[in-house]
Order: sequence, then C-alpha cells, then structure tokens
Amino acid sequence: MSMSPQDSPAVTSAKQQPEWPDAGELERVVKELKVLPPLVFPSECDLLTQRLADVSRGEAFFLTGGDCAETFAANTANSVRARLKTVLQMAVVLTYGATLPVVKVGRIAGQYFKPRSANDETINGVTLPSYRGDAINDVAFTPEARRPDPQRLVRAYKASNATLNLIRSFSQDGSADLRMVHAWNRDFVSKSDSGKKYDQLAKDIDRALAFMHACGADPVEFRSVEFFTAHEALLLDYEKAMSRTDYVTGRTYDTSAHFLWMGERTREPNGAHAQFMASISNPIGCKVGPKANPDDVVALIKKLDPDKTPGRLTLISRMGAGNVLEKLPPIIKAVEASNHPVIWVCDPMHGNTKEAASGHKTREFSDVLSEVKDFFTVHKQLGTHPGGLHIELTGDDVTECIGGISGVMEKDLPMRYETACDPRLNRVQALELAFQVAEMLAK
Ligand code: PEP
Ligand code: MN
Repeated sequence: MSMSPQDSPAVTSAKQQPEWPDAGELERVVKELKVLPPLVFPSECDLLTQRLADVSRGEAFFLTGGDCAETFAANTANSVRARLKTVLQMAVVLTYGATLPVVKVGRIAGQYFKPRSANDETINGVTLPSYRGDAINDVAFTPEARRPDPQRLVRAYKASNATLNLIRSFSQDGSADLRMVHAWNRDFVSKSDSGKKYDQLAKDIDRALAFMHACGADPVEFRSVEFFTAHEALLLDYEKAMSRTDYVTGRTYDTSAHFLWMGERTREPNGAHAQFMASISNPIGCKVGPKANPDDVVALIKKLDPDKTPGRLTLISRMGAGNVLEKLPPIIKAVEASNHPVIWVCDPMHGNTKEAASGHKTREFSDVLSEVKDFFTVHKQLGTHPGGLHIELTGDDVTECIGGISGVMEKDLPMRYETACDPRLNRVQALELAFQVAEMLAK
C-alpha cells in the first residue's frame, strides 16, 4: 500500500530534553520569553542566508568557531573578545588561503544547551542528572546544582543579549580592523620558533592586504566586520519561545541566533527537532556522523529544504579521522543526486574525542588535521566544494587538546582544563589549524 502525505510517519517526541522538576515554573518562563525582544532580526538572518548562498556556489568559505558549551561564568568582555579575535584571525588566514571571502559565525551568544550520552552521571557511588548546559543546570556535582532550573533559560537569554551587545560593538568600532587582526597573526608567527614555519604565508598576507589598501579598498571594509551567531537548537521549549512570526511575510524566524543547527543525536527525519527546524526561516545546519545512512540524510534534507534554497542548509560532517574517506563519499553522492544545493562543512572535533589516562576528555591536533585533510580530498575527488570548517575553540591558552606547535602534551591536560563540556583548541592550536588549512587550500 502506498503512503499518502497524510499518512506520513508521526513526529516522534523530542530527544535530549531535561526532566524539569516543576512544569508550572517552565510554563511561566516560556511565557516570559515569548514577549521578550528578539536577540537577532529576520533581515540579519536573511543576510546570512545570502552569504551562505555564495558558499553553496563555491564562491565563499564558511567558518564557525567557539565553545563547546558557553558558561555564564565565562561570559566576560575579555573572554568574548578573545574568542572573537581568534575566529577573525583564522578568517584572515583562510581568506588568503582560499582566495575567497570567509563568512564568519560564532558558536556564541546562545550555545548554552548540551546533548548528553547519558541522562545521569555517577561519581563515587553518587548518581545525579548529567550537566546539560548552563541554560538548564550547573556543572558542579551537587544535587542543587544539577537540578534543572527553568529560571536559567532567562539567564541564558540575558547572557546571550550581553554577548551580542559586545559582538555588535566589537565588530563595528574598529577593534576588528583587518590590518590589526593580521598584526596579531604576525605576532603569533614571530613569537614562537615553530610559528616561524608560517612566516612566508604571513608575509604573503601582509602584501595582499597592502595591495588591497593601495587599490583603494573601502576603509570601512577594513574597519568593520560581519559576524553572525549560532548554536545548537536543542531545547525546543526555548527555541520555540524565541521564535517570532512576521505578520507581513508570514515567515517565522528563531530569533535566538542567526544560524541554528541540529545535533548528531537529534537529527531523525521524523523527530521533533527536524519538525521545528523545518518551521523556521533561518539558515540552518545539521551534523552528520559516521552512522548516518545516505537515504536518511536525503529524507532529512527534503524535509528541511523543500524549496532547494541556496544558503538555507549546511551539512556538517563529523566522521572521525580515519572514517572520512569511507563514510563521507556515499552521503555526498546521494545528496548531490537529489539536487539540493547544500553546503558541506567539516567538524573535525566531534568524531575525534577520546579519554586520556587522567580521565580528561581530549582530542589530538593531528586527528583534527587529518579529518580536515581527508574532507578536502573527498571533495576534490567528487568535484564538490569543501565549504567550510566548524571548530570548538577558545581565545585562551587552555590545555584541553593535545599537540600542534602549542606543545600541549597529555601530562599538561590538568594545567588549564577549563571547558564545561568538550575539549577546545586553544588560541595557538586554532591559528595553527587555520595556517595549515590555508596551505591546503592554496594548493
Ligand atoms: C557539539 O557540536 O557540541 C555536539 C554535541 O556535536 P554533535 O551533535 O556533532 O555530537
Ligand atoms: Mn562539543
């Protein structure tokens, strides 16, 4: 018997939602969020879709970077500025390597929700609910801290608002001047012996910038920068409460961020997350892991992008080093055959997490680099555009990932292990990755 659209499978309930101890409190908070001002605006989301349409045509590169989990404690001006600076520094290097404009997006101003592999965590015989991001509970291992608290959703809104305020100022007031951003890169290259291996590339970028300047590039383009925000649309009560429908166009936007993505754990085509993502007009993304079945991916993209709108949909592959050459091509081939103009982005972080002997979750810089290399190889073989990178990073000198010229070794992990969730590249590792990728792209 064939299925008519009315018979299509029922939407399954949302995965990865916390068990709120007080449903009435959640209801009151949702009501409050629904009437708060939007954090981002439809015109800004449309502008990002337009920029991403360039990526889908192979005419731009898409860089996303930021924390695995933002925290209220790290929501300081210095921390936000340091993360922004790191993404912008990477972008300058990649612009040169790819000879393409780079669309810059932060995992920032809203990345307060985390999917977890287990509902509970047990330490020394004590079992408590898992940490699900600062918008839900606190990372400290006490019953009070781990209790899901709806008031935290309002705190997440306010923290995102403060971060956005900093971003809007920083990106427009001259602090992000392209020449200055590259001067920080020169500093990075000259200050360490190992950094010197990128000296030639840095000099080439100097010359390119001087040339642009001499050709009369608009000084405003040097002084201001377009920067967008993104986070995982995980907690549907929050994302729905932040969605607003424009009465003129009838289009609904999730105004909590410009770009929202679905995680590897919540991406079933008939799931509640897919249904929500299909209902918003923002540009959106979806993570795709090594267990993804090409037919499911095609079913999902048909649901998320029925009109085949360039810039609408980004697929973020996170296969793990060693899996890319085998797992990615069948997915790309199936998607290409469906004629959807998706953007292909590589997340070389989430397939490469492992536990060190000390118990710290970590990632090897060499695995991260290897996944990116294989991602480029596959796209070259298939004639598709390797559209971008999605990286967990911070602007500080943390010791969470191992290797690269930063010299962080396994024994160093406890020194500055500050992440609330997954290990992030530190500033030097993030810049080294950008220089390495720029070299790959330039080839
Ligand atoms: C993440 O991006 O932090 C994350 C949880 O990723 P994934 O859904 O790919 O595991
Ligand atoms: Mn993560």
